[in-house]
Amino acid sequence: MLLAQKSYVEGALALVLYCGRLLDEEKTAPDAADRQRAHLLLDMLTPIAKSWPSQWCLKANDLAIQVHGGSGYTRDHDVEQHYRDNRLNPIHEGTHGIQALDLLGRKVTMRGGAGLELLVETIGATVGRAWKADGEAAELAGQLAGALDRVTRVTRRLWGSGDPELALANASSYLEVVGHVVIAWMWLEQLLAATAADGPDLDFYAGKRQAARYFFRHELPRTAAQFDLLESLDRTTLDMRENWF
Ligand SMILES: Cc1cc2nc3c(=O)[nH]c(=O)nc-3n(C[C@H](O)[C@H](O)[C@H](O)COP(=O)(O)OP(=O)(O)OC[C@H]3O[C@@H](n4cnc5c(N)ncnc54)[C@H](O)[C@@H]3O)c2cc1C
Repeated sequence: MLLAQKSYVEGALALVLYCGRLLDEEKTAPDAADRQRAHLLLDMLTPIAKSWPSQWCLKANDLAIQVHGGSGYTRDHDVEQHYRDNRLNPIHEGTHGIQALDLLGRKVTMRGGAGLELLVETIGATVGRAWKADGEAAELAGQLAGALDRVTRVTRRLWGSGDPELALANASSYLEVVGHVVIAWMWLEQLLAATAADGPDLDFYAGKRQAARYFFRHELPRTAAQFDLLESLDRTTLDMRENWF
């Protein structure tokens, strides 16, 4: 439970810091092409940066209560207060459902798919570096490359249906799989940095490597079932009728 919390919170923090860097680069990069690139990538990542941390860091708060057992539910410790305070996050500044429609309905289709292409290319660059690094990084890179390929294929399949209502019916699942792939990317970056690092904080770097392993072994594989559902163009939610509730 502690490792899950670490993988969610530090994965989300890495994404938000990366978006902060893009925010700087879109204004300060000396080259106009780099400023445009930062702007497009930030546009693409915004619904994920707004929704993934709000969903999974709340799960971390939930696990923080569970770790304490019965006393976690009482007011003796502040974890229950953190849960209640952070329960707001998937509601304000755009709900999960709305961020999902933004990602699949607007961001993925903008400029003829240029945003998704850039995201895939940028993640691909990390995968390439990890492959060259060999060993564990290369193994995780192979897993990430496979998931990234499924993102491209499932996006084509959804929009290839020719029916926007059907394509968007399971947008929330789409947001969740792309979010998990993006956070896996953040963990691969951290693993590469932690593998190259040396110095007095060896436990810190070992913790980073372990959390990266956890995310790739316990979290990323969860996306397989959601990818299958998306690829099947499932109509269950779409076909539901009000009077059946
Ligand atoms: C403590 C607090 C502070 C707030 N502060 C501010 C503030 O400072 N400024 C401000 O402007 N607003 C603020 N809000 C309001 C907040 O922005 C809205 O609550 C939020 O945008 C959701 O809108 P709604 O409540 O109308 O829910 P709805 O839009 O009715 O959504 C209800 C649920 O249905 C889902 N949903 C809605 N439409 C779709 C769809 N088409 N497809 C799939 N799912 C869908 C949503 O994801 C959500 O889960 C605050 C809210 C709270 C609770």
